[in-house]
Amino acid sequence: MGTNDTETSPDLREKTDESLKDERGKTDEIIIRKSKKAEDKTIDTIRVNRLAADADRETFRAETAIDEAEDRHADTGVQPSQLGDERLILERERSDNAQSVERETEDRARENERVEKRLISDAVLERERKETDRNLLEERGRLDLEAAHTSALLTHEKASHGRTKTALVTRDQYIGILSHDLGNPLAAISIATRLMRKGLSNDTVDTVSLLGNLGIIEQGAAFMNRMISDLLDVERMANSKLILSPERVEVRALFQECVGLFAPIVSNKSFSMTVTCPEGLVADIDHDRILQVLSNLIGNALKFSPQGSTIELGARKQDNKAEISISDNGPGIPKDKMKHIFKKFSQIKTNDRHGLGLGLFISKSIVEAHKGQIWVTSGPGKGSTFRVTLPLTSSLSQPPSNSP
Ligand code: ADP
Repeated sequence: MGTNDTETSPDLREKTDESLKDERGKTDEIIIRKSKKAEDKTIDTIRVNRLAADADRETFRAETAIDEAEDRHADTGVQPSQLGDERLILERERSDNAQSVERETEDRARENERVEKRLISDAVLERERKETDRNLLEERGRLDLEAAHTSALLTHEKASHGRTKTALVTRDQYIGILSHDLGNPLAAISIATRLMRKGLSNDTVDTVSLLGNLGIIEQGAAFMNRMISDLLDVERMANSKLILSPERVEVRALFQECVGLFAPIVSNKSFSMTVTCPEGLVADIDHDRILQVLSNLIGNALKFSPQGSTIELGARKQDNKAEISISDNGPGIPKDKMKHIFKKFSQIKTNDRHGLGLGLFISKSIVEAHKGQIWVTSGPGKGSTFRVTLPLTSSLSQPPSNSP
């Protein structure tokens, strides 16, 4: 993860916590400041109210004193002590009234202050809540972004890990093949060479054993050559570097080529090979690559069938395709293995290896590169038929030009 442009979650959380604390501090400050103002206002109101009440009381006292002085000069016929009492009562009443007005005003001022303080704190808390919500929303956005970034990185890491694992498995398989499968022909070559050298140095060499040993060396070299080219083909296919050179190829002629190629083995092991193919079936294919596919299928048929059995090569036109079939009466293939045998390095019996398990994988890749298909119909003890479809030459999908 980049450290410059992406903050980690604890960093983000710390930042949000700090901004929430800041927000809380600001809110407290505003509430205190505004409440103080409300309190000052109440104190002012009460002071003004008190001054007014004091002034009123002063006025009442002064008025009472004036009235008493006037009474002393005037002859009202009422006892002076009785008059004084009445005025005192009046003055007290006015004074009490003024005091209760003062108290009411003071209570109102205090109530106003309470209401004002509550309104202030409600407004400020509401503002703080909004600010907090905004901060949390921002943090969630940042966390979502970070999570998406982390998940993309994880996917990338997983894919790269998968590629490395596949590469390691493939490398291990290659090493296994090189050490095991190349070991057998190499051992055969080295034994045959040693026997030839011994015969030559003893002067006991005879032509038959010499030819036999040379045959073993030739076979071993051919086998190793095929293995190496198979491995190179697989590598090419993995990197999509299989280049085809399509040309018009007559299927029947291709079959005859195969018959010629396998004639030594067929006659050696008393096999027989039959060909059923209409004339003029011409396909648009890479000759050498399709010959490789057919050789592999025929080679397998011969490899897995008992001596003396028959291998049938057939072809027919199916819509705008040629359908080729290679049938044998060998041991057959169990149903659950039919798909797997087209995979890299797959073999039904791994303890009885006759090759690398790459032939069908390579064949499939070549056929699919021709936009064709390859599949097998088989069953244990029922022999196998491998089928391949290939594109016919477009002009030959039409009736042949020399037809009536
Ligand atoms: P290889 O022949 O080198 O093992 P292939 O890819 O050509 O590799 O074949 C894979 C496996 O499919 C063989 O090992 C064998 O088990 C099975 N197979 C292929 N062709 C036949 C066949 N005609 N009859 C029975 N089994 C076959």
